[in-house]
Amino acid sequence: MTPPTPPPPEAPHSGVAPTHAAHASSSSELRPVPLVQANQDSAVGSRLRVHGWVHRTRSSGGIAFLVLRDATGQMQVTAKRDVLGEEGFARTEKALVESALIVDGVVASDRRAPGGHELRAERVEVVHTAEVFPIYAEQTEEFLLDHRHLTVRTRELVATTKVKAEALRAARAFLDQEGYWEVTPPILSGNAAEGGSEAFELEYFGQKAYLGQTAQLYLEALIYPLEKVYAIDPSFRAEKSRTPRHLCEYTHLEAELAWAGMKENLDIQERLVSAILHQVAERRKEELELLGRDPKELRSIEPPFERIRYEKALEILQGQGFDLRWGSDLATAEERAITLERTSPVFVTHFPKELKAFYMLQDPDDPRTVMGADLLAPEGYGEIIGGSCRETDIGRTIAQLEARGIPRAPYEWYLDLRRYGSVPHAGFGLGVERVVRWMTRREHIRDTMPFPRTPSRLLP
Ligand code: ATP
Ligand code: MG
Repeated sequence: MTPPTPPPPEAPHSGVAPTHAAHASSSSELRPVPLVQANQDSAVGSRLRVHGWVHRTRSSGGIAFLVLRDATGQMQVTAKRDVLGEEGFARTEKALVESALIVDGVVASDRRAPGGHELRAERVEVVHTAEVFPIYAEQTEEFLLDHRHLTVRTRELVATTKVKAEALRAARAFLDQEGYWEVTPPILSGNAAEGGSEAFELEYFGQKAYLGQTAQLYLEALIYPLEKVYAIDPSFRAEKSRTPRHLCEYTHLEAELAWAGMKENLDIQERLVSAILHQVAERRKEELELLGRDPKELRSIEPPFERIRYEKALEILQGQGFDLRWGSDLATAEERAITLERTSPVFVTHFPKELKAFYMLQDPDDPRTVMGADLLAPEGYGEIIGGSCRETDIGRTIAQLEARGIPRAPYEWYLDLRRYGSVPHAGFGLGVERVVRWMTRREHIRDTMPFPRTPSRLLP
């Protein structure tokens, strides 16, 4: 099922600015038109205004050819000395890559221009003349990361950023339609949610505080008044292991639902992921293609996703020569092996309880395991969601905290949730950058973040 989709952000607003000779005398009346609208057959012959940044420029024999870029696309501009005059032409010619311009002109067809049209400039205003832009092909990855504030303008990062925005829009539309309330849990907390070593610690007016690793405990509190809740927040993990799928700060989409068990939990996850894939495939086709992903591959993924138990996953991996036994965790290499040949995601369910957090519900049919699942993306990408049913009994929750040596005091408030109206409930956390990495086939997860935070990078 596809959720209703809001209007595409780049859809024409009011059509191309009408521009007939009667208006042409007063250029101040022109309102800027997005390049994607100017670069269209329906605009041919119109006199209009665009603004943007110089993407490419060359000049010969009194004509400058510029390619302008804005948030919607690109368009060629031709500027002639005999139209602009000596001074106007000289300024235009000197506008290096990334200079900012406002151009008034008339749209003409030109098969050789990107998009098939060009704007023949009648007036060029150079808003800013850029210095020599330091970003060009064949620079080292380190240099590009050091200049991320500039490389965010490159085509691949623009495409990935738009795919991510579309994914978030799709997720919100889907969850809204399913009756979920978006809530705003805190990022700063006195709880290190899972008691782990991966929490960033900081000083908070003389107390120890942590940056949130998950909002789950707060979402659990909010199901009592709201039943179905979700949040899209940054989560922080002091991940020391450098893998292509771990960031120190990432975007966490977490949802929690009351009156739900394993079936409802997996059902909402696979429908959410499918809704995201389908909307991105439909609305960000060009961006996906630029990034090397065929949108059809995403469109063809439909629920239900296959479910395999942890025990079965171990057998498959042992069959492939992995040295694993009951209790071994599935890390990057194992998840890669399970998913490499797949084209659709797969749930791995019923992990040993020792591998998972204190709040997960033990399976009454196999108490060695918990009623949780990780959702693994295909083609080797691996985990994109971790979820579970939550323990609802206060005694067993305390026992699990104790078994893990987690001090009880900061969790007293959480234990209250098992004192007043405790009901079966379940939830999950989806790593937005993990999903975007898979959709856009990025080698490294940092390329799904405009300003990635990794152990060695805090600037820009
Ligand atoms: P992993 O085993 O890959 O480290 P995890 O078990 O620590 O994941 P959870 O604590 O279940 O992950 O977090 C929920 C989701 O958040 C994960 O399924 C994943 O999509 C995402 N996630 C977790 N850690 C990171 C990270 N360091 N960078 C990006 N996304 C992450
Ligand atoms: Mg982890």
